Amino acid sequence: MKALVLAEYGRFVLEDRPVPQPGPGEVLVRVRACAICGSDVHGLDGRTGRRIPPIVMGHEAAGEIAAVGNPAEGSVGTAAWRPGDRVTFDSTIYCGACEPCRQGRINLCDHRRVLGVSCAEYRQDGAFAEYVVVPARILHRLPDAVSFVQAALVEPLAVALHAVRRAPLRPGDAVAVVGAGMIGLLLIQLLRDAGCRRILAVDLDPGRLEKARRAGATDTIQAKGSGTDPANGTADASDPAEEIRRRTGGGVHAAFDAVGLPASLATSVASLRKGGTLVLVGNLSPEVPLPLQAVVTRELSLLGSCASAGEYPDCLERIASGRVDVTLLLSATAPLEEGPAWFARLHAGDPGLMKVVLTP
Ligand SMILES: [Zn+2]
Ligand SMILES: [Zn+2]
Repeated sequence: MKALVLAEYGRFVLEDRPVPQPGPGEVLVRVRACAICGSDVHGLDGRTGRRIPPIVMGHEAAGEIAAVGNPAEGSVGTAAWRPGDRVTFDSTIYCGACEPCRQGRINLCDHRRVLGVSCAEYRQDGAFAEYVVVPARILHRLPDAVSFVQAALVEPLAVALHAVRRAPLRPGDAVAVVGAGMIGLLLIQLLRDAGCRRILAVDLDPGRLEKARRAGATDTIQAKGSGTDPANGTADASDPAEEIRRRTGGGVHAAFDAVGLPASLATSVASLRKGGTLVLVGNLSPEVPLPLQAVVTRELSLLGSCASAGEYPDCLERIASGRVDVTLLLSATAPLEEGPAWFARLHAGDPGLMKVVLTP
């Protein structure tokens, strides 16, 4: 089979490899679509220590089952699956037995492995290849109305839905989304769907704010921009939080920081009304200053949100019914052979690009 291998940091090779064999409890998936994740782009130069070459990356994928491992031995979890079934799978392989897993918090599994990641603890080849082996436990069946490419975009949607579920939202609430990148755009769609009356999006980039408006943001605020753009009604604000408080008469009930830098956290905290909730999703910076006094005296709740825990089936239904449009994120689909060129463009920070899906 063809596999896109990160042979050394920054260098890909399209290799011919033997098709892997599924063991008990595993299935072989013929990959039809696999999205390039930001963590792949950041990892390919060695910065994160989580893509140690040689590794086949790729954890946001969909395809058809090609073979089921050892069904004759009655292996656990494979009974429901047949060759030809259209599937996607969780990016996280969880153990199902540790304390967080038993509580349903599989994103916090003590023995968590991510497909397409190699680090000091483990190496797990991913889906930038014609075939990948995954445990049957992490499979999800695709509704007929969901394409392979759409299904390859389900992971960020699951991350966004998990974050929305962390917040105690009521219909009619006003919310702020700081950062209108991929997760931010999905948050906006989900918050609109949850009945939020006012959704205020903040970003530095007017192009992203335009997308935010299409996703359902009622207000878009450009942080530290260079003047109001009358064409799309986006306001420019040197202090976006003040603008949010002004427009909402005191602040929002919940804010989502989809960036995770000192400025985004400061904006998120300052945009909340008393007793409000901040959900922290982005974590670009490992540490940020915290406006402690505001958090204490205004009794704000700060909640971390990591990956997803069981949101995939719900997300697939939302895509199938059209309640969420994940293709808003899609910049391009390309064959596996063009992977290295797309990785290079993403790594160079091409501002117009969001999701690129490779189709092995
Ligand atoms: Zn990812
Ligand atoms: Zn576990």
